Amino acid sequence: MKHDLAGGARGALLLSLVLWPALVPAQDATRLTETITAISTGDGSVQRREAILTRLRALGADVATQPFGRGDRSGVNLVITLPGRDPRVVLVGAHYDRVEVGQGVVDNGGSCATLIELIGAFKAAPLGRFTLKFVFFDQEEAGLLGSKAYFAANAERPAFAMNLDVFAYGNEFFVTASKPDGALVRALRSAHASSTRAGTSPNAAPGVIEGEFSVVDDARGRVTHS
Ligand SMILES: [Zn+2]
Repeated sequence: MKHDLAGGARGALLLSLVLWPALVPAQDATRLTETITAISTGDGSVQRREAILTRLRALGADVATQPFGRGDRSGVNLVITLPGRDPRVVLVGAHYDRVEVGQGVVDNGGSCATLIELIGAFKAAPLGRFTLKFVFFDQEEAGLLGSKAYFAANAERPAFAMNLDVFAYGNEFFVTASKPDGALVRALRSAHASSTRAGTSPNAAPGVIEGEFSVVDDARGRVTHS
């Protein structure tokens, strides 16, 4: 658990810094770790959801709760919309229900903590053009119930979607892209190139990001920070 937490927190911090370096100021690693701890302390979705909602309320985020299903196949998705000038939607999601084994720190508390950080960053510095939607999915480990319910209930289809699920651990990102040369993989390669030039990200908290990024150029678009 302790090892998981350190790896999960570091991975979450790394992704925030690499993908949104201009928006994310010197990150507070302590806050991220506290958020991951609060989420993963909860055994079930109800407690995990409460931990997420507490932090979203503190950010002043407007949260729509979308219940779905019945009995043990029921759940609640949480949706935060940050409107832009353009109705086209960029969706970033992460499931908050946990895997059976352990406390669900890496799968998927770290991703949820990253999503909370991103919501805070984009509230402070809105995207402007695109409408942003952040979705915390429930019941994904039970067979993608939350995301299926979300797209069944919401007719609009995002122009771009990214799902964070065990996306990072320690010094590695795990990226699977629908297009091997798509926007996300290109952004990560570009971050790799600039970090190689600059050494480390100027926004990196001391001791958190060291060394250079290297890209493992395989079909899954895996990016390694080493
Ligand atoms: Zn998962």
